[in-house]
This record gives sequence, C-alpha cells and structure tokens, in this order.
Amino acid sequence: MKPPGVSRLKAALVVVVTAIVAGALLPEAAVIPVRGATARDWNPKSFWFEPWGVSGVHKGIDIFAREGRAVQSAVPGVLLYQGPLGIGGNVVAVLGPKWRVHYYAHLNETQVDVPLFVARGASLGEVGTSGNARGKPPHLHYAIISVFPLPWRFSGATQGWKRLFFVDPGEVLGGAQT
Ligand SMILES: [Zn+2]
Repeated sequence: MKPPGVSRLKAALVVVVTAIVAGALLPEAAVIPVRGATARDWNPKSFWFEPWGVSGVHKGIDIFAREGRAVQSAVPGVLLYQGPLGIGGNVVAVLGPKWRVHYYAHLNETQVDVPLFVARGASLGEVGTSGNARGKPPHLHYAIISVFPLPWRFSGATQGWKRLFFVDPGEVLGGAQT
C-alpha cells in the first residue's frame, strides 16, 4: 500500500494539470475592449513601437476614444487587480483563457465595481487619461501578457525576450467584433 500522502499529491497534480490544459483550451473570442470602437481606432504598428518612453518599447496597443467611453472586458476571466498601478494610472487586470492576463490602463477616476468573475463585455470602467497618459488624447492602453512563455515568439527586436510573454492584442482582436 502506498502512503496516503502520495495519492493525495497525485490527485492535486491531476487537478493542476487539468486546470492548465482546460485554461489553455478555452476559446478566447475577444471583443474590442472599448465599447463602440473599431479596428480603425488603434494603429496596428503601435505594438512593439520604439522608442517608447520609460518602457523602451510599446508593449500593447492604444485604442483612442472619447473620455468616458465604456471599457469592457475583451474576454471572460478572473479579476486579478483593479486600482492604481504606476504609469498605467487606474488599471484593471483580468486572467483570461489561454493563461493570458489582459491589462487595461489609463482608465478615468470613475471606478466600476468589477466582479471576481468577469464576463466577456463586462464593464471595467471608462476611457481616461490617468497615469502617464495625463495630458495626452484619452485612450485605453491594452496589453495581453502570457503567464507561460511562448518561445516561438522570440524575436531579435529590442527587448525581444519579452515577446515570449507579450502578445500583440491586434492579433487577438483580428476577428473581433465591436
Ligand atoms: Zn499604450
């Protein structure tokens, strides 16, 4: 007979592996995270654009919209963080399908009470100019960060190793509806 500790460990391992595989297989089917926005509201070349302020390269896209326009969750997921975060200003981070964190920045001061389980299209706040967007045209900075590295995405570009984690949101929104 095996000690009970081993089978419990095995069971825990099965749960973890199942969660990782299930998370990886969940369909993303992202919507544009600014309500009413279209693919014309961001520059497709802005991802990994350089030079880009203190970040060096731009690790997301900027979706331009009028201040106060509703920001919605691109994908369903679990709320990881909501609040002020450095140069991002007021930010929301949601862990979505495929083990990717969706990061929404520069929201205005009006905070929405984001639930723990976020539905696709759920309200996250409003477009604003918080953080280092102060004094600039209002926009939503939207980034997608993979929890697990994606080695085939490595590139010789500046900070190319970070491409293992940062996914081009324009690519994910390719087939997105408004
Ligand atoms: Zn940005």
